[in-house]
Amino acid sequence: MKKLSRESRESLLFLIFGAFLAIIGILWYRLSLALEDAGWMRAFGLFVSRCLARFWSVMPLAAAELIWIFGALGAAAAVIYMGIKGGFKGALGAVCRLAFGAGAIYCLFAVTYLVQFSAEPLGDALGLKSASYTTEELLEVGLTVASQLNDAAARVERDEKGLYRPSASYGEIAQRAKESYLSGSMADMYKKGSGVLPKRGCLLSKAMSRLDLAGYYFPPTGESVVSTDIVATSVANTTAHEMAHSFGIGREKEANFAAFLCCVESGDDDLMYSGLFNGYIALNNALYRADKDRWKQLYSALSQPVRDDLEAKNRHLAKYEGKINDFGNAVNDAMIKSTGQPDGVQSYGLVVDLIMAYYLK
Ligand SMILES: [Zn+2]
Repeated sequence: MKKLSRESRESLLFLIFGAFLAIIGILWYRLSLALEDAGWMRAFGLFVSRCLARFWSVMPLAAAELIWIFGALGAAAAVIYMGIKGGFKGALGAVCRLAFGAGAIYCLFAVTYLVQFSAEPLGDALGLKSASYTTEELLEVGLTVASQLNDAAARVERDEKGLYRPSASYGEIAQRAKESYLSGSMADMYKKGSGVLPKRGCLLSKAMSRLDLAGYYFPPTGESVVSTDIVATSVANTTAHEMAHSFGIGREKEANFAAFLCCVESGDDDLMYSGLFNGYIALNNALYRADKDRWKQLYSALSQPVRDDLEAKNRHLAKYEGKINDFGNAVNDAMIKSTGQPDGVQSYGLVVDLIMAYYLK
């Protein structure tokens, strides 16, 4: 048998170690789900995330964005350079080294973030019993939220077009979200996180919009990144959502509810408006799917400034081809289709269930 060259052996080792790290990550995640109490695994993950987030917090720009850009460019450049220098073998060597990097990043992702999925459901942790409810109750809660939303809409600042404008800088809004977490029902959970505020995505926000992303949490650096290309009504809510990931809420829909609760509990006009606005959309979409007549009743309860902000959000989302959210579809189709569904005892998705449990408790 032909002996492998030193160069090939080295490449093979990188590949094997990369695969090894990825397998460790998968097993670590699986173990966290299998254990009765994986609290120590989640605590370890949060400890690593805290160290990473605090390390990168010295940099005002999101390191995550630089990693996306230079990671992609650097990977392509390395394969091309090694390919030119060493032909097929050289390019393969570069791919093996990249596989090692990918394995290491996945391992970090699993150890710090995926393990958080083993936590008890957020509703249980907050003592919110997710009972069944009827479309009549959905309408009732929707009307309560709409009324609170109308009140908040009258208190916030508006620009020359009459659209909502935050009363403070981004940093101030993020700080207020942090204070709300620290003084609200999720204070103990929040304290387990890094406490580092999210950063704005200055370089890749347009690309994020095309992917229908308002923000993201990046486990390899422990950073939360919030897009600059979002409507004003999304800013506080998205900030609170990404913060929720940073203190161990892994599931998307639970992070949505955490953001709602953070905003509603804040007592701050900007946060309350953003949280209620997005909470309303979830209830609106659920009722629209369940009962068109009751949905019309709900939608007609909204004040004009809220409707203007909803339209602004739809216009913004419509700019990105194929990325119109449920609400946009709901409003566009509402007057055409009016089939309705009988009252039923069913679930409309976790965020709606948790909002319902919160208001009906
Ligand atoms: Zn999220």
